[in-house]
Amino acid sequence: MSSNTPPVEPATPATAALEYVDSCNLPTTWANFRMHAFFEPATGKEHIALTLGDVANGQPVLARIHSECLTGDALFSQRCDCGPQLEMALRKIAEEGRGALLYLRQEGRGIGLLNKVRAYHLQDDGADTVEANQQLGFAADLRDYSLCDPMLRHLGIQSLRLMTNNPRKLAAMEGLKVTISEHVPLIIQRNPYNNRYLNTKISKLGHMLSPEL
Ligand SMILES: [Zn+2]
Repeated sequence: MSSNTPPVEPATPATAALEYVDSCNLPTTWANFRMHAFFEPATGKEHIALTLGDVANGQPVLARIHSECLTGDALFSQRCDCGPQLEMALRKIAEEGRGALLYLRQEGRGIGLLNKVRAYHLQDDGADTVEANQQLGFAADLRDYSLCDPMLRHLGIQSLRLMTNNPRKLAAMEGLKVTISEHVPLIIQRNPYNNRYLNTKISKLGHMLSPEL
C-alpha cells in the first residue's frame, strides 16, 4: 500500500438524521414500557420509541409506526382513527409482552397542527381529507418514514411485524433497511364522524379497510 493512500475512515451510518438522547421507564395502563428519546437536528423535532421486552434478539418485532395526531391521540377526537389505533397497538404489544411503537412527530400527515386546523375547517365546509390538504397546497401525505432507520438501528430491531392498514407505509418501509416480515391489520370501530374520513382513506389513499356506507 502506498504511503500516500489516505487512511480509511470508519463507515458512517447512511442515515445520521437522529441523535439518541436517553431512555426511561414509562408505566402505562397496559404495560411498563421503556421510552427512548431521539432528537432530529434538521427540524428540531423530538421523537419517541416505546419498547417492551427484548426487541434486539433478532426475532421479528410486533411494531407500530405511529405519526403524531394531537387531536386523535390526546384530545379524543373522533374525526380520525389515530387514537384508537394507538391504543390498540399498545394493547397488542402488551398482550404479547414484546414489541415496539415508534412515535413520529409529523402531525396531520406532515402538514403540522395549525395547517391541520385549516384542513379541518375546509372539511367542515365539504372537502374530504385529501382535497383539503391539496387546497392548502400540500400533497396528500408528506410523512417521511426514513426516521425509522436510525431509531430501529439504535434499538437493535431487524425485522417487523408491522401493524398498519396503509399500503403506502408498507411500501415506504420496504425502502428502509428493516425487514417487514408480516403485515398485521389494525381494525378500528367506525363512528359517525370518522366514517367519511375512513372511506376517503380507502378510496384515495388505498387503505386496506372494509368500505362502509
Ligand atoms: Zn388523527
